[in-house]
Amino acid sequence: MAERLHTQNYINGEWCDAALGAVFPVDNPATKELIEEVADSTTTDVERAIDAAYDAFAFWSTTSPIERARLLHRWFCLIVEHTDVLANLMTRECGKPFVESKGEVAYGASFVEWFAEEAKRIYGDIIPAATPDRQLLVHKAPIGVCAAITPWNFPLAMITRKCAPALAAGCTVVVKPAEGTPLTALALAALAEQAGFPAGVFNVVCAAHGVEVGRVLSTHEKVRKLSFTGSTAVGKQLLKQSAETVKRVSMELGGNAPFIVFDDADLEQAIQGALASKYRNSGQTCVCANRFIVQDTVYEQFAERLKEATEALKVGNGLDAGIAIGPLINGAAVGKVSELVRCAINDGARALCGAQTHSAGDNFYMPTVLTEVSPSMAIASTEIFGPVSTLIRFTEEAEAIHIANATPFGLAAYFYTEDRHRMWRVADALDYGMIGVNEGIISTTLAPFGGQKQSGMGREGSMYGIDEYLELKYVCMGGMK
Ligand code: NAP
Repeated sequence: MAERLHTQNYINGEWCDAALGAVFPVDNPATKELIEEVADSTTTDVERAIDAAYDAFAFWSTTSPIERARLLHRWFCLIVEHTDVLANLMTRECGKPFVESKGEVAYGASFVEWFAEEAKRIYGDIIPAATPDRQLLVHKAPIGVCAAITPWNFPLAMITRKCAPALAAGCTVVVKPAEGTPLTALALAALAEQAGFPAGVFNVVCAAHGVEVGRVLSTHEKVRKLSFTGSTAVGKQLLKQSAETVKRVSMELGGNAPFIVFDDADLEQAIQGALASKYRNSGQTCVCANRFIVQDTVYEQFAERLKEATEALKVGNGLDAGIAIGPLINGAAVGKVSELVRCAINDGARALCGAQTHSAGDNFYMPTVLTEVSPSMAIASTEIFGPVSTLIRFTEEAEAIHIANATPFGLAAYFYTEDRHRMWRVADALDYGMIGVNEGIISTTLAPFGGQKQSGMGREGSMYGIDEYLELKYVCMGGMK
C-alpha cells in the first residue's frame, strides 16, 4: 500500500534490504529534513533482480494480452485512487508544487491506462509472397528483460512511461530510480504488487549512486533493452556500455528548447505559454523553454509582461497553498543556476527580476528574467534547469530559425505566431522531435515523446511507444501445397 512508505528494494515479489545492509538518506529539498533511509544496492542486488526478471519473462511473455491488460488496468486504478498520497510523497522528495505533483500522477497513470489498451493491439502482418508455395508472416515478440533508469524530476511518470509499454508487450522490468526520488518508485511497486503482477515481473532496485547499478544494467547479458531518461552525458556513457551486448536502447536526454515569439503572435497567449513552459517544476524539465527568442519589434513589451508575471509567482514549500515555484533539487543545482546567471550578467545580460537565491531556504532560487542575452553566452547553450528566463533578440524569421537550431540538442521547440503560412514553414524548419505552435505544454500520452540529435533516440507514449519493447519476427512458411 502506498500509505506506508516502502524503503526496501522490491525484487521477485519480495521487499528486501540491500545485500550489504547499506542505506542512504532521502531528504526533502524544501526543508532539508530527512524523509527516510532507503536500501543502497550494489551489484549483488541488481543481479538478483535481473535473474528474477529473466525467470519471470519465461511465463509473463506467454500470458494473454487480455490478462496483461487487466493487471495494467488494475494498476492504473490504484495509482489514480492514491493520487494524493503519491503527490504528497513526490512533493516531499523532489520539491515540485503539490498541484503539479497531482498533475504528474494523472499524467503518469495515463500511460498505464493507454498501454493496458495497447496490449490488446499488438498486431502482426501477412506479406504477399512472390511464389504461391509460401506464406510470409510477421509477428511482434516481447524483447525480454528491460532495464529502466529514471531521473528525479518526474519520479513517477518516467517510470510508467517506460514500464507500462514494456509490461504490456510482455517484457519484464528492473527499474533503477534516481537517488533523490526512490520512495515514489517504491510506492509504485507497492501498487503494482497490490494490482497482482506476478513475482519478478516488476522489480525496483535503489541506489545512492547510479554508477554501479547502471553499469550492471547496461552490460548484463540477460538485459535485452535499456531505456534511460536523464542527462545527455550519462546517456552517452550508457550507450557505450550497452554496445558490448548490443542492447536495444531508448534514450530520453537533455534539451535546450527555443521559444520563439514573432511580432504577429498573440502576446498574452505567448506569455501564458511561456510561464507554463518555463516555470513548471521550477524550470527543471527537459522540455522547459531554455531560450526565449523574441522579435525586436515586440521584445520590450514581451520582456516587461514576462517580468510582471514572473514576479507574481509565489515561491516556497510545494506543500503550501498557492506555491508556483518550489525548491531546486539540491544545493549543486542552485550553485549551477547562480553561476550561469552571474556569468551572463558579467557578459552583458540585464536582470529584470530575480537573479539571486530566495529567502525561503538554501535550495530556492528566485524566478528570474534576463534580457540582452546573446546566443554565445553559456546560459544560452546550457540546459539551465532552473527558473530563469533568458531573452535573445532577432529581426528576421530566418535568423530566429538559425538561432533555434544552432544547438546539438533537438527535444522540444515552441513558437508563437498568428500567421498560418509561418506556422507550417517554421514547424518544418525546426530540427526538433516535438514542436508546440501557440502551445507551451505539449506532452501527452497520445503523442510520441522524444528527441533528435543529442536529445536522444526512440519515442515514448502514443501508438509508437510499444514498438520500443517489441522485436519483429519474420516466419517464412514454405513448401505450401
Ligand atoms: P542524470 O544525472 O543523468 O541521472 C538520471 C539517472 O541516471 C538517475 O537514476 C541516476 O542515478 C542515473 N545515473 C547517474 N549517473 C549514472 C552513471 N554513470 N551510470 C548509470 N546511471 C547513472 O540526470 P538527472 O539529473 O537525474 O535528470 C535531469 C536530466 O534528465 C536533464 O538533463 C533532463 O533534461 C533529462 N530529462 C530528460 C527527459 C526526456 O524525456 N528527454 C525527461 C526528464 C529529464 P543517481 O540519481 O543515483 O545518480
